[in-house]
Amino acid sequence: MVQLSRDKLLRRGDAAYETARRDAVWNERKPDRYPDVIVLAHSEQDVVEAVRLAREEGLAIGIRSGGHSWVGNGVRDGGMLLDLSRLTDITVDPLAGTAAVQPAVTGPALLERLAPHGLFFPTGHAPTVGIGGFILGGGYGWDSRRLGPACLSIEAIDVVLADGTLVHATDTTHPELLWAARGSGPGFFGVVTRFHLALHDRPRRILRTVHSYPLELRDEVLAWSYAMLDELSPAVEFSAKIGFTPGLDRQTVSVTATAFCETDENILAPLEGAPFRSRTIREVVAQETTMATLYDYADRMTPPGMRWALDGIWTDEPVDKVVAASRPLFDSIPDTTSHVLWMLWGHFPERANACWSSQAKLYLSPNAGWTDPAEDLRHEQWAHGLLAEIQHLSSGLQFSDNNLADRFDHGLSPANSARLEEIRAVHDPEGRFRTYMAPRESTTAYAAAGHARTHTHS
Ligand SMILES: Cc1cc2nc3c(=O)[nH]c(=O)nc-3n(C[C@H](O)[C@H](O)[C@H](O)COP(=O)(O)OP(=O)(O)OC[C@H]3O[C@@H](n4cnc5c(N)ncnc54)[C@H](O)[C@@H]3O)c2cc1C
Repeated sequence: MVQLSRDKLLRRGDAAYETARRDAVWNERKPDRYPDVIVLAHSEQDVVEAVRLAREEGLAIGIRSGGHSWVGNGVRDGGMLLDLSRLTDITVDPLAGTAAVQPAVTGPALLERLAPHGLFFPTGHAPTVGIGGFILGGGYGWDSRRLGPACLSIEAIDVVLADGTLVHATDTTHPELLWAARGSGPGFFGVVTRFHLALHDRPRRILRTVHSYPLELRDEVLAWSYAMLDELSPAVEFSAKIGFTPGLDRQTVSVTATAFCETDENILAPLEGAPFRSRTIREVVAQETTMATLYDYADRMTPPGMRWALDGIWTDEPVDKVVAASRPLFDSIPDTTSHVLWMLWGHFPERANACWSSQAKLYLSPNAGWTDPAEDLRHEQWAHGLLAEIQHLSSGLQFSDNNLADRFDHGLSPANSARLEEIRAVHDPEGRFRTYMAPRESTTAYAAAGHARTHTHS
């Protein structure tokens, strides 16, 4: 008999149900999907009980940790929504250089606990993202160019499997579970209640350079940045933003580089040699900064309380080809909040113990942000429709910006996708856990207009 108290178990029609359903999604664009049951877990034992209840009642389970899936992946029609947002415990072992963190822990909360010990972790860029979905989906965090996607720093997980058992999985005891947890994103088949992480040394200092250029230099700046990446230390995180710049009150192309320094050397110096360097309209040069300030900048780029549609492709195609094909996207940014991110990650080596497999030199991502629901279709068409036009350049998507429902691309190599499904068949033979969302589940205006579709592997 399942033991979940009444306040933790909400059914459709209960007074608290709708607030819990809406609160499960950070994005103001809430999905029109209605689970039958919502479980508000307060402990690992509640998670075990929830999975047992789902088995008894034949419910498929969707999961919510930090609630930052852009498409509200955990909120599905029917079945159970398992809300882990109260699981925020952090235990640090400074001598071992490890931490055990629960899935709704945020980046600032973790870094605050690590700082006194001189330790660090590549947490997500926005301060409110939960580690659960972030790390399972790869996890492109601060200093990830050097430290790797966060999922490669998972040493072990505590996971509740479809049969209701709580398992401590390591590379030795359950290598297949660890392999899947490192990168399968919203396709993972279990509830992770704790991530055991290998930590990294805290950078000695953090420097930041921002060069804002007039929009007419856009194509030149993008081409230069693409070539420049090969000259920069992996300790430099490097991107360009095309869009409106507050304070300058116009669209610009702004290059930002953040250096996580271990020595006194100014590893941002190569940026000063840009051929158009004298034409900046605003600049910050190798200024010392803090993680709190970086989080503040990130929060202002994608502020809460708005409707968001995100999408993205990885690509290794020649830069001229990418820029030429992306002009319709760049030229039609719908408003002053929306922007395109041009993120130069470069390649990080794949590992045999991780299914994470999709990364290329450039990550190109339209970010549409607006407030009026009547504007949904226009913004979604920009973010998803114009990206679909350059699908031929894609070598895959980031599960982080997992808009699988409206423009299904692949986030794993074909071999890793096939292996993931084999492992799933063993551990979740009845399909208790929801897997990747399909276009038929999308409730966006874009889908209603008949645009959501699956793109096959190129
Ligand atoms: C403002 C903002 C900034 C972002 N910045 C970054 C960034 O810098 N780098 C980056 O890589 N990504 C970034 N993302 C994307 C983010 O990492 C993903 O949306 C991620 O899924 C969020 O995790 P979450 O736990 O908050 O989300 P949730 O919506 O709670 O979870 C998403 C899905 O992940 C799976 N999942 C989550 N927790 C568990 C668990 N404990 N066990 C099993 N499955 C689970 C489930 O399928 C769930 O539906 C950002 C998102 C936003 C909204």
